[in-house]
Amino acid sequence: MAKQIKTAISPTREENYPAWYQQVIKAADLAENSDVRGCMVIKPWGYTIWENIRKNLDEMFKDTGHVNAYFPLFIPKSFFEKEAEHIEGFAKECAVVTHSRLADDGKGGLKPEGKLTEELIIRPTSETIIGASFSKWINSYRDLPLLINQWCNVVRWELRTRLFLRTTEFLWQEGHTVHETREDAMEETFKMLDVYAKFAEDFLAIPVIKGEKTESERFPGALHTYCIEAMVQDKKALQSGTSHFLGQNFAKASNIKFQNKEGKEEYAWTTSWGVSTRLIGAVIMAHSDDNGLVLPPKIAPAHIAVIPIYRSDEERSKVMGFIDKFKNKIKDLRYNDCRVRIEFDDRELRGGEKVWYWIKKGIPIRLEIGPRDVDSNSVFMGRRDKEPRDKISIKVDEFIKTVNSILDEIQSNVYKKALTFREHNTLRIDEKEEFYRFFTPENKENPEIHGGFVKSHWCGNKECEEKIKEDLKVTIRCIPLDAEIEKGKCIYCGKESNKRVIFAKNY
Ligand SMILES: [Zn+2]
Repeated sequence: MAKQIKTAISPTREENYPAWYQQVIKAADLAENSDVRGCMVIKPWGYTIWENIRKNLDEMFKDTGHVNAYFPLFIPKSFFEKEAEHIEGFAKECAVVTHSRLADDGKGGLKPEGKLTEELIIRPTSETIIGASFSKWINSYRDLPLLINQWCNVVRWELRTRLFLRTTEFLWQEGHTVHETREDAMEETFKMLDVYAKFAEDFLAIPVIKGEKTESERFPGALHTYCIEAMVQDKKALQSGTSHFLGQNFAKASNIKFQNKEGKEEYAWTTSWGVSTRLIGAVIMAHSDDNGLVLPPKIAPAHIAVIPIYRSDEERSKVMGFIDKFKNKIKDLRYNDCRVRIEFDDRELRGGEKVWYWIKKGIPIRLEIGPRDVDSNSVFMGRRDKEPRDKISIKVDEFIKTVNSILDEIQSNVYKKALTFREHNTLRIDEKEEFYRFFTPENKENPEIHGGFVKSHWCGNKECEEKIKEDLKVTIRCIPLDAEIEKGKCIYCGKESNKRVIFAKNY
């Protein structure tokens, strides 16, 4: 048997990608399954990533003119029934509240009582309940545009769940906007798609493709759905954010009307857009390796772990004294408009154990400080974008001077690695046979990592899309916004097509 390189995470990505994903989450202590089936407990290290996502995105929303508000968790069933496609799309995954209290059942248990006259649905998304408020808030064209965002939780009764990627309850933001004209609403839809793409690339270090969904993948009730799609390390696509042009459908359902400049009443145009805790799943899957989590510094819960290394009490006090002074020197450092967050790990554990602990948690910079480092006024630095044993000694003053550029370099290395991976696994295919071969694993029982993004022609026919999905579990992820117009033949039926779309397996 070949000598195996020991990794901190077992199994490796290559051995079993889904199990690897679970183990990375566990080793970094990000989240766990709860006692409620399909719901997750987000632990502090995972929740802080969400807080950092939220803080930075929120700023981008506000910079583009949006404000936050909060609407009820419950939606009256009748509200939902107003938009036919909408209810059809969400009906199969709704949690419904039917009673308002519990009473003694006479057998030592409890039974629900106080049947509601109208059932309440726990929001799977809030278009209808927010629309009801908007219809009261808007009277004239002077009230437009209305640009509202909500940070909240939603519930979609999922049968097959996976931490961060698909859970019954999840955290997200949903933007809801109202406009005077079709053009204004379209502009907003694209503006927010751009915000998402920029955020994914600049903060999450994930390159994304902006595109439009085909009709079958569209948000229920929307006229156009646009998305950002990322590739993760098993070469599948992960939809990471969506922006919907809702036309006048929801305005009609919720009676959102306004007096236009000519004094005539007309229906408004609306949009909605959202990203969720799924982004954390995208970060884990796009960047982590066989030693655990890898985090882009801009959203990492902490940037630096300081790990004292000593063998005796005497060495301990020498090292800790040095670290106290070091703490003072770095306490006001700032990176990306916020404090450089530092973890001082003085737990009674072996140095090596602590080093691996922080590698698995994805901390961008590790500083080991032992008696020899004290003597030379240095720190021994390891970086999460490099191999665990690739460490260098660096003078304290030099470290303080360069810490910002080191973090920037890690951020950009993580991004470049993800981009290179996507580029290596994206290709054009023009022959049906080759397309089928490409998306078929060699080992059908236990599929190896295979596939990627394929740019192929598609005639626009739903049936071709469905057949491919049936045969290969491959879907059209999007019609890229920057797709060139070129003549070609549909990969399935051979009919004429004028642009390539992106096919992939997906989460
Ligand atoms: Zn076709």
